Amino acid sequence: MTDDPRRATGPAPGPAADDDQGALGTVAKLAAEKFAPRAAEYDRAAVFPTEDFDDLFACGFLGVTVPREYGGLGYGPCRRDTLPLWEMTTTLAKADLSLARCWEGHANSLVLIDALASPEQKRRWFTGVVEHGEKWVAWSGEPQAPKPGESRRFGTALTPVEGGWILSGSKAFATGATGAQWAILLVDPDGPGGARAAPEVRGRLLLLACDLSDPSVTVDASWWDPVGMRATVSHVVRFHDTFIPRDRQIGAPGGYFDGQWQTAFVPHYAASFLGGALAAYEYGLTYLKRQGKGGDPYVQQRVGSMAVNVDTARLWLRHVAGLWDEGRLDEARVAGDRAWQVVARLAEETVHHVIDACGARCLIRPSPVERVLRDLTLYKLHDNSDHVLATVGRAVLGEEYDPFFHRL
Ligand SMILES: Cc1cc2nc3c(=O)[nH]c(=O)nc-3n(C[C@H](O)[C@H](O)[C@H](O)COP(=O)(O)OP(=O)(O)OC[C@H]3O[C@@H](n4cnc5c(N)ncnc54)[C@H](O)[C@@H]3O)c2cc1C
Repeated sequence: MTDDPRRATGPAPGPAADDDQGALGTVAKLAAEKFAPRAAEYDRAAVFPTEDFDDLFACGFLGVTVPREYGGLGYGPCRRDTLPLWEMTTTLAKADLSLARCWEGHANSLVLIDALASPEQKRRWFTGVVEHGEKWVAWSGEPQAPKPGESRRFGTALTPVEGGWILSGSKAFATGATGAQWAILLVDPDGPGGARAAPEVRGRLLLLACDLSDPSVTVDASWWDPVGMRATVSHVVRFHDTFIPRDRQIGAPGGYFDGQWQTAFVPHYAASFLGGALAAYEYGLTYLKRQGKGGDPYVQQRVGSMAVNVDTARLWLRHVAGLWDEGRLDEARVAGDRAWQVVARLAEETVHHVIDACGARCLIRPSPVERVLRDLTLYKLHDNSDHVLATVGRAVLGEEYDPFFHRL
């Protein structure tokens, strides 16, 4: 395997198209029959969607981005078979956006392991996923500017010791905190801030695999009481002098930035936004037909806009996935930012079309529109849409731009 598997001359061929359709069909059935009915309760209780992940494991989907030679499905940008992954994510997000965020975190973590880990690490960790149903997450979140009323700062400190490091401090936005067994921690060895801290972190950022069953790792669930994405359980996680052995380092310092891996994940988030839009759209159509409002010209216009929006979002994702799979990486990265921006906007607009066309009762539970509205509102703040758009503009203008976290 070369440093960048996407450039490898002979990546394992992806599953045949028939297999892809079969897998997608199974996921769609699970999503419709099991995951969507569970979503409201997971949201209300703000708990990790454990049963959903159990079902995904039982049906052989947890290794979605694990290479086929390690027993996985081999989907994703690393293996040049990107669209089936994103379509699965959209399908899951249609049932439950929080589930999709946890799923993305897991799938993206496995992409990083595939791209950067040693053969021995891959053997060990991919076996844990495929055979034992272990779930992974990737955590950077160390926002540095405290908000009003926030007294403690988030952040980690890393001390080199014999055979590894001691990690202390905290991370916020730790998606899947109470559900995952392993976390890839994005740590700046020079101090707090994680991967988003400052451009200087690029050459030194470490990816460290942390066993979350270590008793020195604790979850503070009091912090996470958000408007939406509640079942992502993106809690604060604290590290109390946690020992990380040296053989848990994934890749070389700075490997995350050298491989520009964040750019592969940005359009994956957009695949989730599309799922949220589809959930609202389909519910809205059923609602409007049930009420016999199809003859109203304003309703017709809104439905036309919704239909064009979801089609446009699909086409964008298909386009970007194609660029990744053709190895046109520079184009894929810029197009991924454009797709994120346009899909986020179209998804939000679609939900508002549904609300305006259907009326107030569509925002009363158990309508899924109510939850999708809350989830999308929070989820699209994962990245700053102004900065993403400015990144696209800088690229067009030939100005220097940050393809990772859009923060120049
Ligand atoms: C549902 C959800 C799940 C998440 N899951 C994960 C996860 O699993 N792993 C993970 O690593 N992260 C995760 N994140 C966190 C995400 O990556 C960001 O770190 C987080 O959203 C930052 O929080 P904030 O927007 O409050 O912080 P801030 O960093 O304060 O950003 C707020 C806004 O201010 C801007 N800003 C920041 N600094 C400055 C400045 N100096 N001057 C001007 N503007 C500035 C930012 O661009 C942003 O628009 C998740 C976020 C969400 C919403």
